[in-house]
Amino acid sequence: MDAPSRAIPCDLLVSAAVVLTQNPERDILTDGAVACLGGTIVAVGPAAELRRAFAPARDLDLGRAMLLPGLINSHTHAPMTLLRGAADDLPLMDWLHNHIFPLEAHLTPELVHLGALLGCAEMIATGTTAFLDMYLLERGTAKAAQSSGLRAVVGEVLFGFPSPAYADLDAGLDLVRAMHAELGGGRVRAAVMPHALYTCPPELLTRSYALAEELDLVWHTHLAETVNEAALAEQNHHQSPVEYMLDLGLLSPRSTLAHVVFPTRDEIDILVSTGAHAVHCPESNMKLASGVAPVPDLLDAGVSLGLGTDGPCSNNNLNMFEEMGTAALLHKSELRDPAKLTAQQALDLATLGGAACLGQPNLGSLAPGQAADFCALDLTAPNMLPLFDPVAQAVHAATGQEVRLTVVDGHILYQDGRFSTIDYPSLVREMEGVQAWVRRNRG
Ligand SMILES: [Zn+2]
Repeated sequence: MDAPSRAIPCDLLVSAAVVLTQNPERDILTDGAVACLGGTIVAVGPAAELRRAFAPARDLDLGRAMLLPGLINSHTHAPMTLLRGAADDLPLMDWLHNHIFPLEAHLTPELVHLGALLGCAEMIATGTTAFLDMYLLERGTAKAAQSSGLRAVVGEVLFGFPSPAYADLDAGLDLVRAMHAELGGGRVRAAVMPHALYTCPPELLTRSYALAEELDLVWHTHLAETVNEAALAEQNHHQSPVEYMLDLGLLSPRSTLAHVVFPTRDEIDILVSTGAHAVHCPESNMKLASGVAPVPDLLDAGVSLGLGTDGPCSNNNLNMFEEMGTAALLHKSELRDPAKLTAQQALDLATLGGAACLGQPNLGSLAPGQAADFCALDLTAPNMLPLFDPVAQAVHAATGQEVRLTVVDGHILYQDGRFSTIDYPSLVREMEGVQAWVRRNRG
């Protein structure tokens, strides 16, 4: 018998009936466990074995649950929870210019923080552990991510016109630089985020990219979201959006491009050869009737691809389990081929693909040395019984409401309906004022 003193100390040991690792072999363990120390996974294996080997400060046996890597939302605007349901059923440009931008002109840092905190609560409760966020007054999102315990890559959105956060491009770039200095390279970090080709002049795009290179940060923008955008690039630059970006020197593994709904064969080849990442946002693309990104073609070609909800105003939620299910169904329907997209591919987009989009390969899988970011689904929920294929269950059956546990950086943020880092009742009370604010300002 092992003497207790020989057991290795660790902070947290979580065991569950099923552990879906997403490791390179895509191992799925029965009666497995994950041991964490200092925010890092130190072991993944049979629960009985890990319980013998480790002396955890906290030992959590979830029983009939499925442990899997936390989902990664690779493109969102979390504070837009404030505007959820404020404008729906409209085309992108009308929606953006006549409804969203006018409301956003009235935003304050306090409101952005409040909206981001609600977004963090929604993400935590539905098993998302990391998100890539672009918005105005983005320090509020950074603050919400820091206090809620989520992992985040945040960027002040850069426009070719003044925003509530800065007067001109120089001030916008200075703001990004200051945020990076404040945040550093930890759980919440800064990135450089010009809005889109149609809102940013070439000088903004190239100078923002140079800043991302200088500070070694992710560079994130919207690209090729609609047919109109592609037509506009053709008209203004006589090039497709991806070719134009390539010519400006903006494509590399630090580039993460949201949407890419209409790539030509040449554009797909450019994405592969440059190592730029694309983020599939199926529900937003469906809701704004932007079209269907050729995800199976992108994957076949070898494009690095993540999955995002986009903002909760064009979705209208931040639930990555729903997004995975939608992605899997959409391409089957679009291509009339049930083998596309597979449940495994959908799960890969939301985990390993997200890790690549965020430039953090230590995310997206459960293995020694990886970040201790994971969630657990209740396998006794009516829609989770019986269980044959855990991957299919996570993608096709789960809704996100089965999440029992969310852990980031080794810390439990949510367990069985309770938030440990967010005062949710007071957040609900604060949201009452938001409705009045939207009504007052939407004209
Ligand atoms: Zn977006």
